Formats: sequence, structure tokens, C-alpha cells
Amino acid sequence: MTNEWKTRTKLVHDGIRRSQYGEMAEAIFLTQGFAYPSAEAAEQRFIKAGEDEFIYARYGNPTVRMFEDRIAALEGTEAAFACASGMAAVNGALTSMLKAGDHVVSSRALFGSCLYILEDVLTRFGVKVSFVDGADLDQWRKAITPDTKAVFFESMSNPTLELVDIRSVSDIAHAVGAMVIVDNVFATPIFSRAVDQGADVVVYSTTKHIDGQGRALGGVICGREEFIRKTVETYMKHTGGSMSPFTAWMHLNGMATLDLRCRAMADSALTVARALEGDARLSRVVFPGLESHPQHRLAMDQMGSGGTLIAFDIKGGKDAAFRFMNALQIATISNNLGDAKTIATHPATTTHQRLAPEMKDKLGITPGLIRLSVGLEDAGDLIADLKQALDKV
Ligand SMILES: *Cc1c(COP(=O)(O)O)cnc(C)c1O
Repeated sequence: MTNEWKTRTKLVHDGIRRSQYGEMAEAIFLTQGFAYPSAEAAEQRFIKAGEDEFIYARYGNPTVRMFEDRIAALEGTEAAFACASGMAAVNGALTSMLKAGDHVVSSRALFGSCLYILEDVLTRFGVKVSFVDGADLDQWRKAITPDTKAVFFESMSNPTLELVDIRSVSDIAHAVGAMVIVDNVFATPIFSRAVDQGADVVVYSTTKHIDGQGRALGGVICGREEFIRKTVETYMKHTGGSMSPFTAWMHLNGMATLDLRCRAMADSALTVARALEGDARLSRVVFPGLESHPQHRLAMDQMGSGGTLIAFDIKGGKDAAFRFMNALQIATISNNLGDAKTIATHPATTTHQRLAPEMKDKLGITPGLIRLSVGLEDAGDLIADLKQALDKV
């Protein structure tokens, strides 16, 4: 547990807690509660729990704490709180700190459930929410006022891979004392430098790259000790969105290979994007790692990588897109991302189905658009698969 450790060392060793048996692998403590040696000890623990003292799994658990310490070390924050899902994390980060009358500014291009929290839930409780085009700094400057309590955005948007300039938006927000909360799923914790760039709170759906094999639903909120252990933990422990020890244990195992996996996926994504760019059957290929991406420079400065997702538009609209998807032999039709298996998604009819047509147009979610989450398969095999499916369009 030292800040000098490099990423791969942190991912293998950080946060480990060993029981009296000295087990080599991280133990899974499948327990909801903890026995106290005496009534006095129980009383004392409810007054103030020590570092290795737990009360109830909704409040904390040794396996979950190992995961929290490891992800906090990786992200470079003082603390983290692990949640039952990515959405529990987004909801927890926002709802725990906001109250009626507060003002929030958010980018418009959001994961559907995030949009629901900002547009429907928070406003129902009297929070005022303004939406901006996340890539347009002038819109952030206009929308953020001295009343703004928090700004929220996805650092890379789903599914059209548009970036928000974390450093610039953070500077604008901090000038009025607003907190910067970043949903960083598409950037991955490996390519993230969000805290150095000004983010106060970084949220992940751990369901994605951190699990990495499409098994468990989870989420995490990373931030300063005071915010995580007071504001977030108090809210989460009483409202029931904590991570299960079994999930934390799977994530701890997954993290040992997180750096290797994200880098291999990102390398393949670049190879695949280059192979697709210029294909006459596509009207556009969107990948921040390509020089043709309008924010290529920002992506390189902000993440040092184009990430692990590609979006491309098949000429011929929905029919062509469906023929393409149905012809795929390796890439699987689904809607997760960050999985070892390459996943093809048709956002217009699935993840973003409920958006109004005007909003789909505004966000670039066209009928021919495919989102590809590049997995760990051989890049050459993937390219061959995509090309043979394009031949069938
Ligand atoms: C998947 C995802 C979420 C929600 O996470 P769950 O684990 O599915 O609850 C939130 N934000 C982004 C950007 C996501 O990709």
C-alpha cells in the first residue's frame, strides 16, 4: 500500500487484508454480520469502528474493503465506496450530496439510466438541472453559475465516443466552488487521470472493464476521505446500495489483469478501427485513437489512448445494420461493454431505443450505427469477422 507502486503492482497487491490463517488469495467473507467479544466491545464499535472492525455488510465488509482500497489506490483518491451497481454509484454520488434548490449542470449525452436520475429523479426532489453539449466549453461556461453545486458528465460518451475536457470543465466548475463528478466508464481506470485533471469524484460501473468477464453487476465511487466516508457512506449504508462480498471478491481477482486486459483491448481497438476506416460500406468510423477523430488530441492528452470502444455507421441504415449483426460469428450481439468477448450493440433499437428521434439525431445515434466493444480475441480474427459480415450487408 504505497503511492510509489506502479499500476500493475497496485492491481495485484494493494488493499490486501489477511486473516489469522495467512491465506495467499484474497478471502471472501460471505458474512452479513460480525460477532463482538463482549457487550462493551459492541457498544464501542457502534461509537467508532476501528480500521479492522466491521458492523454489518451494508456498512462494510473485509472483502469489499479490500476492493475499495485497491480501486482507490489505482484511481489516486483517498477513499472509495463500493456499490451494488454502476447506477447505485451514480445515484449515490449525486443524491448523497444534493438537496432541494441546488443546481447541477450535466452533459446531455448520458447513459440512459444516468439521464433518468438527472432528468426525472433529482428534479422531482427540487434539484435544478441544466444540460449542455459536453464538448462545447462555452455552453459549460454559460450554464455554470455561482449557485451550481455539482457538475456531472461521462468523460467519454456512449455510444458516439465524444470526450469532455475534464481539466477545462473542472476549472470552470471550481471557480464557483462546484464539485466535479465524472462517470469514467468508457475511459477505464487504466487510462484515467481524472483526479489529476481536476475531478473531485470518479464513478465507475465495475460491471464493465473491472469485472471484465460479464459476470457481476457492481459500481464504485472514488473521492476524498471526508466525502466518501461521511457523505456517501452515510447515504449508501442507510439506503441499501452496497456491493456484495462475492462481487468484490470477483472484482479483486479481475483487477490483477485489468491493466493487461485494457491495454490489449485498446491495442486491438486501434487495429480494428484502422482496418474499418475507409471501408466503402461505412459512412463513418468513430474512434478517438484515430487521427480523423475531431478530439484525437484531447483523447491522447486526457487518456493517452483511444479506449476500447469503436462506433461505426453502416450505409443502408437499420436493415443493413441488422444484416451485419446477424452475420457476425465472433462478435456477440449484446449490450455490455469491457468484456473479454467482443460485443456488438445497435444503440438506436436497444440501449437508446427510448430517446425521441430528435434527440437521437442530436446525439448522432443514427439507424446504421453499431457500437463495438473490442474484447480479448485476436485482432486479425476480429477484422476478418467484421469484414465477412460487411460482405453480407
Ligand atoms: C453501464 C454504465 C452505467 C451503469 O452501470 P450498471 O453497472 O449497469 O448499473 C453507468 N454509466 C455508464 C457510462 C455505463 O456504461
